This record gives sequence, structure tokens and C-alpha cells, in this order.
Amino acid sequence: MKKSVIQALLLACCGIAATASARQPQNIIFLIGDGMGPAYTTAYRYYMAEETGDVSPTIFDDLLTGMAGTYPDDETRVTDSAASATALATGRKTYNGAIGIDRDHRHLPSLLSEAKSRGYTTGIVVTSQINHATPASFLAHNESRRNYDAIADDYLGEDGRSPVADLLLGGGTSYFIRPDNNLVKVFQQQGYQYLNQYQGLKQLTIPALGLFAPKGLAPALGSDHPHRLANMTAAALKALDQQAKPYVLMIEASQIDWCGHANDIACAMAEMDDFAHTMKLVKEYVDAKEDTLMVATADHSTGGLTLGKHGVYQWKGPALKKVSVMPEQIAQLLKESPEDLENIVQTHTGLTLTAVQRPIFLQALKDPDDTNVEQLAQLVKHLIDEATYTGWTTSGHDAIDVQIFAHGPQAEQFRGFMDNTQIGKKLISLLQPIPAGS
Ligand SMILES: [Zn+2]
Repeated sequence: MKKSVIQALLLACCGIAATASARQPQNIIFLIGDGMGPAYTTAYRYYMAEETGDVSPTIFDDLLTGMAGTYPDDETRVTDSAASATALATGRKTYNGAIGIDRDHRHLPSLLSEAKSRGYTTGIVVTSQINHATPASFLAHNESRRNYDAIADDYLGEDGRSPVADLLLGGGTSYFIRPDNNLVKVFQQQGYQYLNQYQGLKQLTIPALGLFAPKGLAPALGSDHPHRLANMTAAALKALDQQAKPYVLMIEASQIDWCGHANDIACAMAEMDDFAHTMKLVKEYVDAKEDTLMVATADHSTGGLTLGKHGVYQWKGPALKKVSVMPEQIAQLLKESPEDLENIVQTHTGLTLTAVQRPIFLQALKDPDDTNVEQLAQLVKHLIDEATYTGWTTSGHDAIDVQIFAHGPQAEQFRGFMDNTQIGKKLISLLQPIPAGS
């Protein structure tokens, strides 16, 4: 009998309303858009609209429930990803740079470690290296996010024998296959399937470790796999369902933040598109299953992204769809064929150089041997920002509140304003004790 029919019968015969709010979620899917402040979801909405057409709500608009503050455990107010991910993972504030520990260096249990100890299956799916700050805060303890090798070692568990995560998908072979230690081998000895090609996701079984790049995955913009987060997530959900066991899955769109640090709006929109596809497929899954809660948020906002600048009342987001590759790739092409300047810029950005911009590019390309690709990429980004009226205030993070999105059983608990620690605490409080052998 369908659940909705049972609920209707319960209500008719006994006055029991087995409503969505009364149900506890079996499974929890926690999604984090790293660096995805409200300006990013707004930008994505206008980016997706036709240049002169109607504006439609996005998946982010559909699932919005609240806002969260993100300040770390000091007076700076501007958090980094480690402190905010620790808050989201453990429900406790800490200092910038800390991975799963508080200011007194006490190890904090996380949503995933708590879930694991109660018998849940646990997993992470990210687009950074899997030992980067956000996933690390769910799976490891370290005084500094920079201790990448030690954090990777920690993924095997405190006793080195029982990893916290049953499923790990993302990048990071440089940290897991090292001259001093081959962690992949140890995972394999413990029965983990190892994948290093996206194709392998078709046969994904749990436990599994999938590392698809030396560090972070290739950026979505200009990639053969622009929806790699959505694809990894689809494979993860299928494999988790085959377990027939409750699970907690953390999914991070890690590189929205990297685009923000680089003040690269085209890069950011491509990462947002991958995250939107991921959110959509998770929502469809939640609607079909009825026993799974999805909660999404950001750890902080990055770059001080502004839609509109120079006093001009305009933001031309849809024009960004014509940017076909990363600015660094455009810069590389320009360095290789400086005589093709106009053509390369037009082909890969859809933009025409103005009389002011042309001499600046020509100056930068004067001596091809001396051309600095990074500086040239800055010029390309500046060109795109000027054409679309995109502004940035910092190459770092900012202290602005971030959004909360929730759907499924107990989603109403994530409504209104919350501190980021409350999100972590609430998620942990929703874990159920699972009897052994279930
Ligand atoms: Zn960052």
C-alpha cells in the first residue's frame, strides 16, 4: 500500500495525522555550495533567463527555507571553509583553519562519525580533493586544513582500521597515492572498490573510493564533464539504495568558492549549473522516496560578488553563456596565437574588444615569450566583468549570511534565521539509533 494511502486511512479511522512533519527521515542528504552566498543564486537565476525574456525561479528559489550566519569562533566575523564546515558538521564553532576540532583542540564528533557509529552508511561526494577543508571537517580532526597528508591518513579512522566514510567520491590521488604511503591500497585491502575513471561510476558498489583527479576535479567550465557532481551524486544514490540501510550523504559543490576567489563569474555560473542539476536530482529522489531529508546551505560567501556596478542599473548574466572555456585557457590560446586576438576573444567569450581594451591586450601580448598567462587571464576576466556589469570586492570570503534550503521530512526545522552551528546540531539530532543487524 502506498504511504499516502496509509496516511489517509490513519487520518480517517483514528484521527492520526501521519504528516510529513511528524515523520523522521531515514536518510539525510546534506548539500553544501562552498562560497555560494545569495549573490550566486541570484546571479544563476538571471544567467538562466533569456536575455530579454521572463525570469523563472530556480531549484534554489523553490527550496529556500531560511538564512544562516557563518561567523567563526573569534572576532573577525569572516569565516574560512574549515571553521564553517566544522560548524556545519559538528554543531560547534571553531577558529579559522581548524578541521573537526574546537579552539582547545578537542576532537568534535561530526554528523558522519555520529551516523557511522549508529550503523548508518556514510558518504561524501565533492568536486575538490576529498581531503579539502569541507569534507575533511566531516571525516577528520586536525589543527590545520593545510595538513593534507595527515588529513588523508585520518580518513582511515582513528585506529587506522575503520574509515568513517563508506563512500568517497572526488579528487585527490596526489594525497592518497604518495611515495610514503599508498592509502588507496589500504582502502582496497579493507574491501573498498577503487575507481579513477568516471565510467566506473556505472558499476559503483559500496564501500568505494573514487578519485578522478590529482587534486580538485577539472573545472565545470569548458569541461567534457560539466555535470560531474550531478553524475557522481546519481551514482552514489543508486549505490546507497542497493544497501537497503539508512545513510547520510554529504555533497559539496566545492569549486563555486574557487571561482569566487579567482573573481571569475563565468567559472562560478558553470559550477552553479552543476550544483543546480545536483539539487534537482536530489529533490526528485526525495520526492520519490518520501523517507529522505535534503538540507542545503553554503559555508560562507566568496569574493563579494555584486550584480551591477559603476552606477549602471544593469546586469547581463545571460551573456556569460557565450564564455565557453576558462579565462586561463583563453589566455593560453592568446599566448600561442597573439595575432588571432580578436578572433579568439570573440569565439570564446562572444565579446568584441573596445578601442580602450584592444591596446591593453596588445601591450600584454607584445612579447609572446614574456606573456604572463595569469595576468592575461585577469584581463579576460576584467573584460567579461565590464561587459556584464559584474563586481567583486575581495579575493577572499565575506561575512554575509548564506541561505538554507530544505525539503523532505523535518524540512520545517530548517526555517528562518539560524546560526550555522544550529544546522549541524539539528542534523545530528535527527539521527536515529539503528539496532545492530538491521
Ligand atoms: Zn574559500
